Parts: sequence; C-alpha cells; structure tokens
Amino acid sequence: MSEHKTPTSGTGRVGQIKDITSLSNPIIKDIRALSMKKHRDETGTFLAEGLKLVIDAIELGWSIRTLIYAKSQRGKAQVEKIAALTFARGGLVLEVSDKVLTAITRRDNPQAVIAVFEQKLMPLSSVKVKPDDTWVALDRVRDPGNLGTIIRTCDAAGASGVILIGDTVDPFSTETVRATMGSIFAVPLVRASESDFLSWSAKAAPMLVGSHLKGSVDYRTIPYRNQPVVLLMGNEQAGLPDTLAKACRKLARIPQAGRADSLNLAIATGVMLFEARRHLLDLEDPAP
Ligand code: SAM
Repeated sequence: MSEHKTPTSGTGRVGQIKDITSLSNPIIKDIRALSMKKHRDETGTFLAEGLKLVIDAIELGWSIRTLIYAKSQRGKAQVEKIAALTFARGGLVLEVSDKVLTAITRRDNPQAVIAVFEQKLMPLSSVKVKPDDTWVALDRVRDPGNLGTIIRTCDAAGASGVILIGDTVDPFSTETVRATMGSIFAVPLVRASESDFLSWSAKAAPMLVGSHLKGSVDYRTIPYRNQPVVLLMGNEQAGLPDTLAKACRKLARIPQAGRADSLNLAIATGVMLFEARRHLLDLEDPAP
C-alpha cells in the first residue's frame, strides 16, 4: 500500500489517498464484508456503486465514509472533487486496482467509482403526513429486487417514502441498492413493527388502503385526492395478514384477466401508486 496527496478542490483539506492492490489489505477485507448483513448492521454502513450515484448521494447530504475508485480515474475532475469532499468530511479515499474493485463488487465489469455510506432510517414517530402525501407500507417484503424496484418507483411517482413493516429484507443490501438505481438516496425509509405501524396509522389517520387479492373495491374508484394516503402492500407469498387488512379503510383490488393468480409485488405497487398520484403527475412539469 502507498499513499499520495490529493488536491483540495477549494475545501482547504488535503488528504492521503491510499493506493491498494492487495485483497488481503484489512481495509479492503472490511469493505468486502459489507456484502454481509451482519457487518452492515454492525457498522451502520453500506456500499453504493457508480460515479453519478455517489455524487448525487453526497449532494443529498448522505455521509460518505470511504470513496474507492479505479486507478484509471486518477486526475478526473469529478473524481478529484468527490475525493476532496470525502476528505473534508473526514472520510477515506482509496485508489485501487481493477482486481480489488472486482472483488469488492463481485462483478466482472465493476463501476469505476464506488463508496461506503452511512445508513439512514427515519423514525416512524417523525413521519407527519399531509394531504397529497403518499406513503407506501410494505409488510415483510422478502425480495431485494422487489424492494429496490419499489423504492425507485416511489421516487419516480413522487411518493413521500417507504415504511418497512416487520421482518423485511435489508434495504441496504447491495442487490436492493442496485435495483433502486440511486433512488435509495432520495426516498425516506422507515422501519416499524406491525403494532407500532398500527398505532401510528390510527393516530396519523391517513387513508390506509390495503392492496389485497380479495379486496372488494376497484383501486381506480378510491378518492385519493386531498388527503394523506398510505398504500399497504402484502408479502410476496402470504399477502396481507388479517391484523393489517382489518385496519385498512379500503381493501383495493387491481382487476386482472388471464391465468396469473396475482401481480408481482413491485408491479402491483407501481400500478396502485401511479393511480393514487395520478392527479398530481403532469406532463406539463416534466422530469429534468
Ligand atoms: N399469494 C399471495 C396472496 O394470496 O395474497 C400473493 C401475494 S402478491 C404476489 C403480493 C402483493 O401484491 C399482494 O399481497 C398485494 O398487496 C399485491 N397484489 C398483487 N396482485 C394484486 C391485485 N390483483 N390486486 C391487489 N393487490 C395485488
């Protein structure tokens, strides 16, 4: 391992960039261990991949612990800028070989820039709902790809955030973070037990809409306007349990044709979400 100095990019801090080529370096071992939930939980950190995503995360105020980039990126203006910002925030900067990047990301063609960030979850008690807010609550979601896709869809639809109820997949797993395509940094996440969610929902009094295969209400007929809405989605295998279904003001169904028993959870969430926010989404105000 060797070290060299990085430009300050006006931050006034000069840091030591560590050059690492060995997989047995303890810093690299530590970063590789972030593929395990136990290590993510212990350190309260997670890994995100891609230059744009890392820049967006820093701009959105996420705390960066370590910036890691391929040697080929040395001297690139954007990389130098985020290296300087990382130092300014007390983080580490590592310049590594392709072999090390491949080992960390467990991918043949890894992104040239990756970073370790601190996890961020919002407490349920601080969620204050307002008219036209839409939250998505997921009961015991198991599939990381589904969760990542739902977080991305919430971002695209302008939803306020995602409440994870009960024992769910880790939102900071590499697979979930990848599937969010960067939206992990834009969508507030909350974790809650079923009983805490039920007490919060009774007090906050949103329009709690359960999405249920046996729902008696067509999801397109629900009055979503001018009130806070929470869309409650069931687990991939078991659907919504009675304890949660009973608390819903409406149990909505998406009519289906054909032979499929149900829709995939992420697809069903997307269909419900875009209907609930239809009156708030306008092509006159296109995404940048
Ligand atoms: N076997 C499960 C069941 O009996 O509910 C299927 C669960 S489905 C794969 C996952 C979740 O997606 C459901 O709990 C529900 O919230 C939502 N979902 C899927 N298809 C739906 C539909 N046609 N109408 C309403 N919700 C649906």
